[in-house]
Amino acid sequence: MITLESINDFYEAQFREWPGLKASYDALMTAERRIMDMAGMNVGLQYNPQRRQSTEAAVDSSSLAKRPCFLCKTNRPKEQQSLKIIDGWDWLINPYPIFPVHFTIVSKAHEPQEEIPLDMVAAADAAPCLAFFYNGARSGASAPDHLHFQATLKDELPLLPIVERCHTADKSGIMLSTDFPADLPMKFWSLVVMPDPTGMQLLSILPKLYGFDATTGAPDPGMVNVIVWMDASRRLRVVVFPRKHHRPACYYAEEKDRCLVSPGAVDMAGLFILPRKEDFDRLDTEGIKDIYDQCGLTADELRNYRPAPL
Ligand SMILES: [Zn+2]
Repeated sequence: MITLESINDFYEAQFREWPGLKASYDALMTAERRIMDMAGMNVGLQYNPQRRQSTEAAVDSSSLAKRPCFLCKTNRPKEQQSLKIIDGWDWLINPYPIFPVHFTIVSKAHEPQEEIPLDMVAAADAAPCLAFFYNGARSGASAPDHLHFQATLKDELPLLPIVERCHTADKSGIMLSTDFPADLPMKFWSLVVMPDPTGMQLLSILPKLYGFDATTGAPDPGMVNVIVWMDASRRLRVVVFPRKHHRPACYYAEEKDRCLVSPGAVDMAGLFILPRKEDFDRLDTEGIKDIYDQCGLTADELRNYRPAPL
């Protein structure tokens, strides 16, 4: 079981052995933040220049083939240690943090990011203080050629308490966010998974829940962000954001209209990571709503879209 104490010990040990890691977490402490109220939710903006490489990562197959994979063990910093929590995975401290506690959980094998790994459930069971998040290959993953997911403390993601309040733990099954009594700007499916056959059935369809390519309309397993966590009553929670675009139009716009944002699960859950100061200063609630509508599904799309298992 992972506790706050064991997390702290691991961080302390890695900070001692790896000064560069300590420096990047110290830099995070001084990162500027802004909070905006959207439908009663505190949507956050974080100005984080250390994330620029990740935001701008070229994830087409020829670019991937040309660079050494930074998640493969042979290419990792020699100081980087792994926790042994779940078989088949290395549990690493993320050297480019968004959060003061930020893990990357990396498959031991160099295999592509094809579908949501159900080992996220085992991870949530082993670490109930953490929320685990997954970015599909075309939805914010900067290394879609090497299967991985990430984790942070549950209270870092503004959306989680709202989901727990709007979809109560006694309502097993799937609920559309458009049926929540809150007009949230991001659209998603919320799952409450009971430890029973119905819950197991729900988990078995989870890897088949994803969005589609906006150009072709074809369902695409790379078009998804997922968050998995245990709530205070030890009920398994999953939020799935079906996606339709990798990046919003403003990412590709001329400089005067440009906003360098490439949303992943964290942004979809209400915390925007902006590597450029001008975007951090400029992005407003209208812009955020627009990014959610472009990259995720709109309310109408969520109501009408039915992937095969639903
Ligand atoms: Zn690799």
